[in-house]
Amino acid sequence: MIDTHAHLDFPEFKDDLPDVLNRANESGIEYIITVGTDLESSRKAIALAHRYAQIYAAIGIHPHNAHKVTEEEWEEFKTLVKDDKVVAIGETGLDMHKDYSPIEAQKELFVRHLNLAKESGKPFILHAREGFRSAVLSPIPMRMA
Ligand SMILES: [Zn+2]
Repeated sequence: MIDTHAHLDFPEFKDDLPDVLNRANESGIEYIITVGTDLESSRKAIALAHRYAQIYAAIGIHPHNAHKVTEEEWEEFKTLVKDDKVVAIGETGLDMHKDYSPIEAQKELFVRHLNLAKESGKPFILHAREGFRSAVLSPIPMRMA
């Protein structure tokens, strides 16, 4: 069994990650994919994946953070996808529930992630929370970036 969506870089796991991994293993979970939510979190996910054999990484920038991404950060982010322990792109997508980031910034970042997934051949982890209506009203061109 594989847990495909955890955030093991979050501070809640700072003190007892080895115990969490042991308990997961004893419960029959062979592998865990830890999912990055911004550039720093994605770097941490990869570092954890290299430290523990049972962890793999997904890298992504959450839509809440879409408006904060600089070109330099995106360029660095794109290089992370080549890492052998990165098995997916995400999580990213559209989130209108909290409205932390303008929808146009979210859409642009969403398309960048989709293109990166396509180019790398790695699967995509979609975060979708009340974002569909807006996307339908204003369709997303597949080649914005
Ligand atoms: Zn998540």
